[in-house]
Parts: sequence; C-alpha cells; structure tokens
Amino acid sequence: NREIHLASRPQGWPTEDTFRLVETDVPTPGPGQIVVRNQYMSVDPYMRGRMNDVKSYVPPFALDAPLDGGAIGEVVASEAPDVAVGDTVLHNLGWREYAVLGATSARKVDPSLAPVSAYLSVLGMTGLTAYAGLLEVAAMKPGETVFVSAAAGSVGSLVGQIAKLKGAGRVVGSAGTAAKVQRLKALGFDAAFDYHDGPVRESLREAAPDGIDVYFDNVGGDHLEAAISALNLHGRVAICGMIAQYNDTEPPAAPRNLAMVIGKRLTLRGFLVNDHGHLREEFVRDVAGWLREGQLSYDETIIEGIDNAPAAFLGLLRGENLGKMLVRL
Ligand code: NDP
Repeated sequence: NREIHLASRPQGWPTEDTFRLVETDVPTPGPGQIVVRNQYMSVDPYMRGRMNDVKSYVPPFALDAPLDGGAIGEVVASEAPDVAVGDTVLHNLGWREYAVLGATSARKVDPSLAPVSAYLSVLGMTGLTAYAGLLEVAAMKPGETVFVSAAAGSVGSLVGQIAKLKGAGRVVGSAGTAAKVQRLKALGFDAAFDYHDGPVRESLREAAPDGIDVYFDNVGGDHLEAAISALNLHGRVAICGMIAQYNDTEPPAAPRNLAMVIGKRLTLRGFLVNDHGHLREEFVRDVAGWLREGQLSYDETIIEGIDNAPAAFLGLLRGENLGKMLVRL
C-alpha cells in the first residue's frame, strides 16, 4: 500500500516537497470495518486550505500523516454485516491505495448506473456544489444572465450548463486558456473569455452588455470586483470559492468596489455544499436525467497513479485540468 503524507506546510505555493510517498502494509479490518482498494481519488482546491495549520470548517491535515479526501473503490475485505467484498463504496480516505474504515463512513453506490469516476465528479460533491449554489444559494430564475468563473473546471462547467438547462437567458464563463474558452462555447455557454486577455471588468462588460443577475464565484479577487460592477439591481452572488487567493501570503487587493453592494441591493452569500444535502435526491434525479438525455456533458482530467497525486494537485492549482481533476489508483 502506498499513501501520500503531508511532509511540510507550504508557505505560498505548495511544491513536490510538500508531499511524501510512504509505503505501508495493506491494512486488515477490525470489527465493523472494511478495507477498500481505491480506484479513483478526488483532488480538490479546498485541500490547499487544510495544509495550513489554521482553524476552519474542516480540520487541518496533520504533518507526517496521510492526507484525506473523497475516493471511490472496491471493498476487498469486510468485517461489517452490511457491506460485502466486491461492493463499490464512496468514502473520505483518498490519497492512499488501500483504506481501512468503519463501514458506516462509507456509502454504497451502484457501479452499473454510471462510470465510478462520475460519483466523484458530475454525480458527486462538485456536481451538488454547482446545483445547490446556483439554484438554492443564488436562486437563479429563468431569463436571468449568469456569470461563472473557473468555468471550465468541475464546478464551473456544470454551473453554466445547469443554468442553461434551467432557463437562464444568457450564460457567461471565464477561464484561463483559449482551449478552455472553446470548450465552454461547445458546452453551450453564450459567451466566454480568457481572463488573461485583459481586465476581467472589460471582458465581462463585452460578454454581458446588459449586466448580470447572478455571479457564481469560484475565484474571488478581480473576478468578484468585476462581477460587483456588472451586477444589476438585486443581483445575487453565490460565493463558492476564491481560488485566486488560496496560495497568497498577503490579503487580496480586490474587490475594491464593495460599497456598490448597497446601492444595487446585492446579496453576497457564502455557502458550503455540506449544508445542502437535502437537495441530493432532486440533484441526482435532474442530473441523471440530463446525462441520460445527452443534455449535460462533463469533463474529467485523469492522472495515473498515487505517485502522481501531488502533481495532480499542483496541476489543479495551476489550471491544468479540464473539468474534474481525478487520480486513478
Ligand atoms: P476546478 O475544477 O474549477 O479547478 C480549479 C480551477 O481554478 C483551475 O482549473 C483553474 O482554471 C482555476 N484557477 C486557478 N487559479 C486561478 C486564478 N488565480 N484565477 C482564476 N482561476 C484560477 O475546481 P473545483 O471545481 O473543484 O472548485 C472550484 C471552486 O469551488 C474552488 O474555488 C473551490 O474551492 C470551490 N468549492 C467550494 C465548495 C463549497 O462547498 N463552497 C465545494 C467545492 C468546491 P483556469 O485555467 O481557468 O485558471
């Protein structure tokens, strides 16, 4: 069994030295426990925050111990009555090839309904984040104009498509490369721009000349500032993430125009997907239906091997992924 430990706490950008590959024995299950051979693990931006030794909504990773995070795999040993060898389970002990855990911490999924990786992407946590953030937190209504940043990523690409499927009038996305911008147009975004091509404020004004009603924020900083300027009266912002500042050592320079929130009567609302589990059934019904009808596409960037998991994480922060970043183990 190979697993990835946190070797040091990064100051600013993490590097390969942040991680250490450690070999251990394959675990054996105690009473009530199962052993899972992980097939895929999720790589997520929030993991960067957990590398800092600060109190947050999830505890920090411990030094010299394995990292963790979403994973899916096959049960290879079970001392639990309700879980059988051969079952496919979703759980939270990624970053290792074999995981031992209490069976109650794993959720059985049906691998015949969808490719197993989809339970970590479109049908998983990032899918629900897009769905809940757009429809519940920002309460998007048909006909509205929606702007989403990091739009070619896992959450963002689903936000844009779900907005169209739920009747948005116009959907605009921003992303970091020309190829991603092309992909967004193919996914049905009405307009998309590369945020490196000029000030976000100007690109957004061109892409949404009549302003925006909803901003789904994955980036923060200049993107949030541009959105506040572009938002129409009573506009709403779902604050999902602020990836532009996760590696910063200084407070962000933007947004500088927060006072506009008053005159425009804007609502800016932060949220965590964990609080929206009540939408899961509706989410799965909608998304499974759209997938079946071919109305929703999802991209996955799959990196091979646990030894490449650190590179996958660093690549995610640099924008090397299209859609969900996953590691196949
Ligand atoms: P993504 O698949 O979107 O990957 C991250 C992307 O962020 C990269 O591909 C990169 O694309 C973009 N990015 C990186 N740095 C910058 C920057 N400085 N400026 C603009 N874009 C940047 O990840 P996820 O879909 O998993 O997550 C998206 C966001 O949602 C993150 O902020 C994450 O923290 C948040 N999140 C929040 C949750 C919640 O419950 N609130 C749950 C899940 C995710 P590019 O090439 O376009 O730069």
